[in-house]
Amino acid sequence: MAITPEETRRGTQPVDFINVGSLLSDEEKEIRDRVRSFVDREVIPTAAEYWDKAEFPFDLLPGLGELGLMGGTIGEEYGCAGWSNVAYGLAIAELARGSGSLSTFLHVQSGLAMAAIHNLGSEEQKQRWLPPMAKCEKVGCFGLTEPDAGSDPGSLATTAVEESGGYVLNGEKRWIGNASFADVAVIWARTEDDRISCFLVEGDNPGYNADVLPRKGSQRAAWQTHIKLEDCHVPAEARLPEANGLGSTLSVLTHSRYGVGWDGLGQATDCYETALAYAKEREQFGQPIASFQLTQAKLVEMLNEISLSQLLSIHAGRLKDADDLDPATVSMFKMNNVAKARKIASLARDTLGGKSEEKETMPQEPPKGASLPPTSRATRSER
Ligand SMILES: Cc1cc2nc3c(=O)[nH]c(=O)nc-3n(C[C@H](O)[C@H](O)[C@H](O)COP(=O)(O)OP(=O)(O)OC[C@H]3O[C@@H](n4cnc5c(N)ncnc54)[C@H](O)[C@@H]3O)c2cc1C
Repeated sequence: MAITPEETRRGTQPVDFINVGSLLSDEEKEIRDRVRSFVDREVIPTAAEYWDKAEFPFDLLPGLGELGLMGGTIGEEYGCAGWSNVAYGLAIAELARGSGSLSTFLHVQSGLAMAAIHNLGSEEQKQRWLPPMAKCEKVGCFGLTEPDAGSDPGSLATTAVEESGGYVLNGEKRWIGNASFADVAVIWARTEDDRISCFLVEGDNPGYNADVLPRKGSQRAAWQTHIKLEDCHVPAEARLPEANGLGSTLSVLTHSRYGVGWDGLGQATDCYETALAYAKEREQFGQPIASFQLTQAKLVEMLNEISLSQLLSIHAGRLKDADDLDPATVSMFKMNNVAKARKIASLARDTLGGKSEEKETMPQEPPKGASLPPTSRATRSER
């Protein structure tokens, strides 16, 4: 038998066992469904191929830019959609359901780079970069992590030394998504007063170089890089005026964490949908494996956890819309959704049996869901 990812999802409605739809506005449902339909049509059919080849799907960027997802909660005055945080989260979950690689691109472009420019940049910086980034005509990256500064970003060693008319940056950044093709890199560096500051480095700066990290085991269609900044000169206007110390860095990470929470929900949903479709079709002992109570128990557990994560996600979004989502709550929200996604991925793999190793039956990006435990999101949740 063969259930392709397309067959698994064709004509499916969003998973909604406990009527969480009743908590959403018509506009939020419309945004969710619009992104869902784009993902079903454009992302799912080719996601496994990009994953196999470890290629970034550049051809999807124009369509992605039209959705309004990039910087989705930023206002229309900066060319963005001005959605509620709940609508933005629903859209992220739909994208993550189709491709964890593409949602990783989104977190870097929207949740980190655009958020930093919007929250910490000057009016001129915002007007210049946010409208084209919203449409994916320009791509941004976020350079914080260094070879020796991961969970502890306060120990970063990249320097920014003032010179006539600007700064010169030196240092290295590791694991930076999108950086090899970014038009603008948001780079965190230590200034001479020992404070952490932030600079916009343009991708064609001769002092900036980003090499793609090879042989990644998961999120293979998203590119992470090693950046070298060697006597990288930037003008004084490249400095983000509101970025003053580690607190500014952490405020952007808190915003990004909100999006990653919804991402966990989306990837978990993908695992559940795939396992359910397979269990209904796969026959053993003369009947579909879905008819056995032990399989049903796994499916029920997945659905139960997804339903609870949906409630928590919408609650977190409503708090964020009311400007009342504190960092501890958003961390717990992300921790819950990612931990549940890891558990659901494992249950889904169990349900698929040997087929869990085959591309035809795996969630679109082969070991995506199942590879959640050892990869980035879990690690990053430690921050
Ligand atoms: C796919 C991917 C994409 C990424 N994209 C970006 C990006 O775009 N921009 C960017 O700046 N960074 C990015 N990162 C880097 C990411 O943010 C770091 O991997 C993360 O901060 C952890 O740092 P580290 O990998 O150096 O691990 P380490 O900090 O070395 O941690 C290793 C282990 O030690 C544990 N640990 C560390 N400190 C403590 C402690 N105090 N108590 C208990 N346990 C601890 C960690 O939880 C982890 O299990 C990305 C990473 C990945 C994998």
